[in-house]
Amino acid sequence: MRIDKLLSNLGYGSRKEVKQLLKDGAVKVNDTIVRDAKQHVDPNTETITLYGEVIEYKEWIYLMMNKPPGVVSATEDYQEKTVIDLLEMEDQVYKPFPVGRLDKDTEGLLLLTNDGQLAHRLLSPKKHVPKTYFAVIDGEVTEEDVQAFAKGVVLDDGHLTKPGELKILKSGLRSDIELTITEGKFHQVKRMFQAVGKRVIYLQRISMGPLKLDESLGLGEYRELTEEEIEQLK
Ligand code: URA
Repeated sequence: MRIDKLLSNLGYGSRKEVKQLLKDGAVKVNDTIVRDAKQHVDPNTETITLYGEVIEYKEWIYLMMNKPPGVVSATEDYQEKTVIDLLEMEDQVYKPFPVGRLDKDTEGLLLLTNDGQLAHRLLSPKKHVPKTYFAVIDGEVTEEDVQAFAKGVVLDDGHLTKPGELKILKSGLRSDIELTITEGKFHQVKRMFQAVGKRVIYLQRISMGPLKLDESLGLGEYRELTEEEIEQLK
C-alpha cells in the first residue's frame, strides 16, 4: 500500500497533510526516512514510525458491541445516530460496518468488522447461522407458541419461517422468552410474535453463531474480539 494512503487511512491526516509529514522527514520505514508519498510499504512486515513512534496497523478489525436502544445499525444516516458514531476515531479509521441489522429499539450483540468475507458468510441464508434473542412479550407465551415456532409461522407477507426454538423463561401477563432463529428477515422476531397474536416489548440479541454477548459490556460499549472468538467465527 502507498505510504500516504496508509497513514491517511489510519487517521494521521488528509493525503495533503500526510505529504507534508513525509516532506518534513517525520516518517521512517525500517529506520530509513521516506519522503516519497508514492512509496509502497508493507505494514505487516515493515516497521513504520512517525516522529519515532511505531504506527500500529492491522488490516482487519472485529468488534463486539452491546448496542444501546436509540441508535441505528448503519454506517451513515442523515438524521439518526449510528452505531459507527459510538466508535472511537481510532477504530473508525478501519471503516468497520455492522454485520446485519438490529432495529433501532433492539439492544445487544452487534458485530462490527471490515472483513467483508466473514460478514458475507455470517449473513448468508445458506449458512443458517443461529441467532438467539431474549425478549419480553406482552401477554402469556404458551406451549402452543413453542410448537407453532418449532413448525414455522406465517409472517404478514406470507413467508413461512424456518423452525425457531422458543424457550419460555417466565410466563405471565408479561413473559420472558429466548428465541433462536436461523433467518434474518426484517423485524423477524417481532413479526413471528405478531403471527401468534403477541407483541414484543423488549428485545435483546444475546448470541450470533458461536459469539455470545459479553455481559461486562454496558450499553453502547464495545471491545475487540479475542483471537479465539475470531477463529470460532471463521
Ligand atoms: N428481530 C426483530 O424483530 N428485530 C431485531 O432487531 C432483530 C430481530
